[in-house]
Amino acid sequence: MDQVTVRCTVENCHYWGRGNVCDAREILVTSDQVGAKYPDHVDTQQLSAILEEVGETPAGKCEETCCKTFRARS
Ligand code: SF4
Repeated sequence: MDQVTVRCTVENCHYWGRGNVCDAREILVTSDQVGAKYPDHVDTQQLSAILEEVGETPAGKCEETCCKTFRARS
């Protein structure tokens, strides 16, 4: 499968790279509700553990989705 390039403008994220490219190996994009419900440490590694509870999270518009992998750069 081809590698996906994620373009992102969230410059203060730990994974943000020059040219607005995300340098994370993988990211978790989910609904705003799931993003708000689970603590910051919940990310791609924990997805299989919460998937049954979370299920699928359809969104009606882009404003209802978020990047759960975001981590503020220290
Ligand atoms: S992890 Fe998410 S917020 Fe951070 S650079 Fe990548 S896409 Fe942007």
